[in-house]
Amino acid sequence: MTEEFFDLTADAKAKIANKYDEYYIKAKAAQEAGELKLVHERVLNPYDGTGFKLLKGQTVRYELTHGPQIIDTCYISMERPFQEFADTWHSSAVGACTPYEGMVYYSNTPYMRPLLTLIKDTVDLSKIEEKYGEGAAHNFVFNGGRCTTGVWEAVWGMPHCNSCDSNMLKGIFEVAGEEVARSRAAASWSAFMHFQIVEFRSAIPTKLTMHPNGRFGEIYKKGDYVELLAHQDVYGAVSTCPQGDQNDLSDYRNYVSYPMTIKIFEGKDAPLETAPDPQQQSWDPVDWIIAGRPGMVTGKIGEEQP
Ligand SMILES: [Zn+2]
Repeated sequence: MTEEFFDLTADAKAKIANKYDEYYIKAKAAQEAGELKLVHERVLNPYDGTGFKLLKGQTVRYELTHGPQIIDTCYISMERPFQEFADTWHSSAVGACTPYEGMVYYSNTPYMRPLLTLIKDTVDLSKIEEKYGEGAAHNFVFNGGRCTTGVWEAVWGMPHCNSCDSNMLKGIFEVAGEEVARSRAAASWSAFMHFQIVEFRSAIPTKLTMHPNGRFGEIYKKGDYVELLAHQDVYGAVSTCPQGDQNDLSDYRNYVSYPMTIKIFEGKDAPLETAPDPQQQSWDPVDWIIAGRPGMVTGKIGEEQP
């Protein structure tokens, strides 16, 4: 054993992170210079989910237009809708459990492709940290999870509660079809949350239930948004979380929810530049196991010790 603590995650980050920074920097500059044009806009109502196609070089903006509404999102590769999705594990291992401007959403194994980058977040993070402590944030992943009808029934004793799981599946069903939705491709284990305040550092278990006052002004402003650039064609799905503004969690039926707005943009004059496909060579793990694990690379086996 070495005496020094080896941070494997830091080592992985040093090798991978910042590789795709230039695309984030250029896209953010174009966005801030007003060089993007709106190509699609829709309002998502409370207790609902919707799906959309987001093409390589387009951005998606989630905007708080009616109230401080929590949303959950997920993304599936249009090229491999049954196999590849934006993976909270790969993304948070290289980035953080609290996504920030410049953080890349990577796809799952073995692809590990940069699928999206969070390019803009207008929420004043300093206000969140001031109120809830250093490390508090409103973008997060929590074991990739999202609220589910199963957990709501277990907690509140009522079947058929609206949940982010079923809302995102509804979006996937609409945009990618029943088969993809039934495969639970991404929605089952890989959701990225926005506008829900968490604080991971000071508490075990994680503090998930912070209570903003439910009004614009204290933390969120009307028109606050997060925006992501797509590096590949993806199906996106978004849910207005039934926890709403997280203001009153005393009973499922007291949660207060609001509509929010989804906007899709693209470059006015030319498409935004996107990160290249790293073209990883590893196979789908099941195919590789069936083939006898050809070309397997390993470390060393130790001798039996006395
Ligand atoms: Zn939810």
